[in-house]
Amino acid sequence: MIERTAHYIGGQWQPSIGTETIPVVNASTEQIMGSIPAGNAEDADIAVRAARAAFESWSTTSPAQRAGYLKLAAEQLQLRQSEIASLVSQEVGMPFAYSNVVQVGLPVQSLVSIADLALSFQFEKKVYNSLVVREPVGVVVAITPWNYPLHQIVAKVAPALAAGCTIVLKPSEVAPLNAYILAEVFEAIGLPPGVFNLVTGTGTGVGETLVAHPEVDMVSLTGSTAAGRRIGAVAADTIKRVSLELGGKSPLLVLDDADITAAVSHGLSACYLNSGQTCIALTRMIVPRSKLAEVEAIAKVGADSLVVGDPFDPATVLGPLVSSTQRDRVVTYIEQAIADGARLVAGGPTPPEGLETGFFVRPTVFSDVTPDMAIVREEVFGPVLVIQPYDTEAEAITLANDSIFGLNAGVFSGDEQRAISVARRIRAGQVQINDGAFNIHAPFGGYRQSGNGREFGTWGLEEFLETKSLQLP
Ligand code: NAD
Repeated sequence: MIERTAHYIGGQWQPSIGTETIPVVNASTEQIMGSIPAGNAEDADIAVRAARAAFESWSTTSPAQRAGYLKLAAEQLQLRQSEIASLVSQEVGMPFAYSNVVQVGLPVQSLVSIADLALSFQFEKKVYNSLVVREPVGVVVAITPWNYPLHQIVAKVAPALAAGCTIVLKPSEVAPLNAYILAEVFEAIGLPPGVFNLVTGTGTGVGETLVAHPEVDMVSLTGSTAAGRRIGAVAADTIKRVSLELGGKSPLLVLDDADITAAVSHGLSACYLNSGQTCIALTRMIVPRSKLAEVEAIAKVGADSLVVGDPFDPATVLGPLVSSTQRDRVVTYIEQAIADGARLVAGGPTPPEGLETGFFVRPTVFSDVTPDMAIVREEVFGPVLVIQPYDTEAEAITLANDSIFGLNAGVFSGDEQRAISVARRIRAGQVQINDGAFNIHAPFGGYRQSGNGREFGTWGLEEFLETKSLQLP
């Protein structure tokens, strides 16, 4: 049992003033594995004041000093690799090998790349008779989800620190234990008190208090579109800067000249990654009608052959979903899709055989869907793929863009230039061409209700900067 009772505020572990606790559940065993404090408004206020007090001094440090801290943090995080990866595999259910890569490898790379960026970034520029200076936005509240917890935390914390901001982090209450390790890392490297603060608790509790706090200058959320809508509304009262990385219902557009086997197997991986609990999951496979039967057959064999099970078994491709709430939500979507008339090609609402304990869901594929069905329109956040046929390329692009979201997309084609020209017509923040990989130096974020703002690279750093013009005589 990992029982955390304190928040990390002003460089100290301060016992929570809120007396309630939130249990943390192991996704595979359904056993309680730890607990965290449910911070209250007073905890939030103390944390914000600590961040405010630290801002004046931290904001005047040099980019090189800040980069130095980020590199030290990267080294310390790396030293705790197995501990972090194991923790996240228990909290989230993510396969252990993958946890190592995305929960430790990726955060370490992000810290180092943002440190390098801070060293080369042009914080000042002469424009005619003005000196334009980029300054830290101030006290930042970072609110993060459970699906790639440490990766999403570092995607905010690293650029905010590099910019010279101070931070209050409120991680997801569903997978919060890894965030405590990051706080320990900052403590171990001697980051000045109050520069990074951690408070835990629910979104509607401590989260909203932080968002509404008048001493907070900016809120950066990664989470659901519903939370983004609410946070945007609460933050509007104090005209805070709000950056939102939200949900998606992303299409994979398979063009008629694509290698169908390669496209469908790539599509299954891109949909089922982290058991489908991935904001950029490609959950709508849009395929030429003439190839529909072939696509269904390949998808069925592929989905049925994926090993679902214990995240610590090296053979496992899909672990459990994060929680009973998430499992129930996904199963309800599958049942609703069947009731709406969608045809089940693979998987279904019942758990995989022998996996009744743990929040497991079978990799599921639907065909014969219509554009108005919830399974086509809404983010399921589980291992569920829908296949949609098209007759012309124009129709395929219309289908791809027929969504309130615009986070990610994929285009598969035998002709890279053709894929790029189709990608230009898709309204999304990123488009993967064939098996083009995720890149931490490129901007990441959504169009439409997938949010606003960008993370990673220069764009991610600029999110945390204000712009001032000094008009020179
Ligand atoms: P969630 O919206 O339920 O919670 C995210 C965070 O927001 C949590 O820390 C939660 O406590 C907090 N929160 C919720 N309501 C709040 C409120 N009213 N005020 C302040 N804080 C509040 O999302 P989740 O279930 O943790 O994560 C899954 C969602 O995140 C999915 O929709 C997914 O698409 C999205 N996501 C987006 C990205 C991206 O980069 N675009 C990445 C990962 C996940």
